Amino acid sequence: MSNRNLKKLDQEKIVNTYARYNMEADHGKGAVCFDTEGKEYIDFTAGIGVNSLGFCDEGWVKAVTGQITKLQHVSNLFYTEPQARLAEALTKRTGLQKVYFANSGAEANEAAMKAARKYSNNKYGNDINWIVTLENSFHGRTMAALTATGQASYHKDFYPFLGHYVYCRRNDIEELERKVTDKTCAIMMEMIQGEGGVVNLDKDFVQAAESLCRQKDMLLIIDEVQTGIGRTGKLFAYEHFGIKPDIVTFAKGIGGGLPIGGALFGEKAADVLKPGNHGTTYGGNPVACAGALEVLRRMDDAFLKDVAEKGAYLREKLEALAEVESVSGMGLMLGVSLKTKDAKQVVSAALEQGLMALTAKNKIRLLPPLTITYEELDKGLKILEYVLK
Ligand SMILES: *Cc1c(COP(=O)(O)O)cnc(C)c1O
Repeated sequence: MSNRNLKKLDQEKIVNTYARYNMEADHGKGAVCFDTEGKEYIDFTAGIGVNSLGFCDEGWVKAVTGQITKLQHVSNLFYTEPQARLAEALTKRTGLQKVYFANSGAEANEAAMKAARKYSNNKYGNDINWIVTLENSFHGRTMAALTATGQASYHKDFYPFLGHYVYCRRNDIEELERKVTDKTCAIMMEMIQGEGGVVNLDKDFVQAAESLCRQKDMLLIIDEVQTGIGRTGKLFAYEHFGIKPDIVTFAKGIGGGLPIGGALFGEKAADVLKPGNHGTTYGGNPVACAGALEVLRRMDDAFLKDVAEKGAYLREKLEALAEVESVSGMGLMLGVSLKTKDAKQVVSAALEQGLMALTAKNKIRLLPPLTITYEELDKGLKILEYVLK
């Protein structure tokens, strides 16, 4: 099908929820994507932080195809080894106790928030159910995750939302202390607000949230859907902040390209959800789990160190560009503020020149595959530099 016909068909028959770029992806290898005309693009997006090992990594493909030719799905009514092994790997690497598997980030957060409410409900009775999240946060598009998302622009047209959510300004400890009450069951936050514009939280604010949670027996939920699975140079970004969360949610990067997410539960919440309380037909699908196991297997200390080093390299090169005002983020999750140019226009122009990048608010957002080479980073940087001039 010609690109023109495809675009027409897509626009006529698919609900128009995405403003797509003018590129039809055909195949990819590592950090390089090819369109249907054979044009090459350096990938600084990893499918929005999903393709941790890049396109069609050999080990990952082998793990996934090995599983898909053996057993593609059987439902959570039965045991499957990839799921149990993935849970073992995740708990071993984090020190958290149990995992609930879902299919996406929003669902991971739904599970976390349900568990937090049930924890308080079981322990203190019905009315301790308020959840504090942050302004400018993003937690997903399903109704509870959307309620938790502290951005009015996402809420418009979808009222009414769930009750008993309250939003706090980030990095404002006094406000957090005011917003937390005797009726609060959980505080939920991202360590770097991704969709909110790659905004880092302050360490003392995050630690204050943790100590409030300890004082009042509330659960600290860290949404690592974007920051997790090696993205910031640690397996999870909370490790940079010296805290121990009660619940950690993950999705994007874990599957290496297949839909899987979940919530890791520490001691307090590990046994809160019981048979019948929550569930999903696909969650922890064996093919997705086999891919995720390979992603985690590859992510050893040397791999994470390499991510941190490449992140520092990319940041330094970006900061040296004349048009760049500042760079936020950590590791290979970076937000670039520009002095005069419009980020969306720059990203569109970069695509024309063979570089895939993202935006977040008024910044350029870069989430390259974690396996990207220095050579590919340089190629992408060169295009960005050209476009910025
Ligand atoms: C992307 C994202 C989500 C939502 O994940 P989906 O898989 O799109 O449902 C939730 N939280 C954060 C921090 C995200 O970046």
